[in-house]
Amino acid sequence: MPAMPDSAGVVIVGGGPVGSALALALRDHGKRALLLEAQTARSADRRPLALSYGSRLILERLGVWPELGMFATPIRDIHVSQRGGFGRARLEASETGLPELGYVVDYGRLAQLLAQAASACVTCHHGAHVLAWQGGDPARVRYEYEGEQQELAASLVVVADGGAVSGAASGDYRQCAVTARVVSERPHNNTAYERFTRHGPLALLPDGDGWALVWTTTPGRAQDLCIADDDRFLAELQREFGNRAGRFVETSARASHALHRRRASSDAAHVVFIGNAAQTLHPVAGQGFNLGLRDAWELAGHILDTADDAPGSPAWLQAYRRRRSVDRGGGIGFTHGLVSLFSNDLLPLGLIRGTGLALFGCMPPLKNFLARRMTFGARG
Ligand SMILES: Cc1cc2nc3c(=O)[nH]c(=O)nc-3n(C[C@H](O)[C@H](O)[C@H](O)COP(=O)(O)OP(=O)(O)OC[C@H]3O[C@@H](n4cnc5c(N)ncnc54)[C@H](O)[C@@H]3O)c2cc1C
Repeated sequence: MPAMPDSAGVVIVGGGPVGSALALALRDHGKRALLLEAQTARSADRRPLALSYGSRLILERLGVWPELGMFATPIRDIHVSQRGGFGRARLEASETGLPELGYVVDYGRLAQLLAQAASACVTCHHGAHVLAWQGGDPARVRYEYEGEQQELAASLVVVADGGAVSGAASGDYRQCAVTARVVSERPHNNTAYERFTRHGPLALLPDGDGWALVWTTTPGRAQDLCIADDDRFLAELQREFGNRAGRFVETSARASHALHRRRASSDAAHVVFIGNAAQTLHPVAGQGFNLGLRDAWELAGHILDTADDAPGSPAWLQAYRRRRSVDRGGGIGFTHGLVSLFSNDLLPLGLIRGTGLALFGCMPPLKNFLARRMTFGARG
């Protein structure tokens, strides 16, 4: 790399929802920030995201909730069950003291609103493809933008690329999540269903006038569900989910997402990972973006607490990691625990699951504890 690159303050690699949220949180504070995002167009990804009430509060402070909220469907009631087994649990917003348990939005809209708001107040280069970064004081970033390779020195490089450049996933769930919009004969009444099946969890989330589906299954079956004609797909969904939502009558085209696991560990000076680049989780508990948004929010606070304009020293990074470790560890542990407990067919585990669900259903303090952890993270 050349010796004297241009100098920037905080460089954010990746303008997905987490990177854009960080850029927004740094606005108005006189900190120099530059966001580099590879894509130029709105993401066509319509995967449904369940936002926690805690995420709503952060998005309100970032100023995007008024517009996003118009497209968000509240969740007020959650039903959890397992196919072919006893035990079920129900969680209602009224039991938790929260106005709503969460909100369903789509990834493309969320990413676009955050990116637009970030571009209005922070320098954002869309179409800038980051090729490499290097820790050090200063850290460096090499990227391609408008046909030219460029290089920057930065007091802090924040990697929010979803894991695209930052390295291989640390594990493959050997599962895919099939997403679609479906319509059934019964209204959703703001109820979300999570049903654990032999091949993985199936979530049916209230979304506008219909439902957003996240159906986790084996890669082969996912591929088959994506190419099935609508009638066959609806029949298979009905068989797997049962009749709680009435008869399924309509479906959109399906998309399939391969599920990986990642936990980044980097001790490079002046480089920090957030969002999916730091930890990629199974969608079973709907925690990935919620956790990533808290990464961004807390990192912004940590940067703004820094008196000088040079965050990123080893001690500074260590303090940020400590600040995030309980929340991150809790989110990762809870998600992996659910996947291990619910994604297999062993009889003893089936009994433990059923008993756990039945107990959970009649223990209000436990429900309250879990709802607050999932809403606000470990500080809940
Ligand atoms: C099916 C499914 C359902 C999910 N449901 C939920 C849910 O209900 N609730 C929840 O909280 N989470 C959920 N998640 C997880 C959630 O989608 C992720 O946690 C979230 O998208 C992470 O955001 P991010 O900004 O960190 O990464 P990403 O969304 O991956 O964004 C990364 C950005 O970096 C850019 N980029 C990549 N490489 C480069 C490069 N070389 N140079 C510049 N830019 C680059 C990309 O273009 C992209 O814009 C779900 C995930 C899946 C797969």
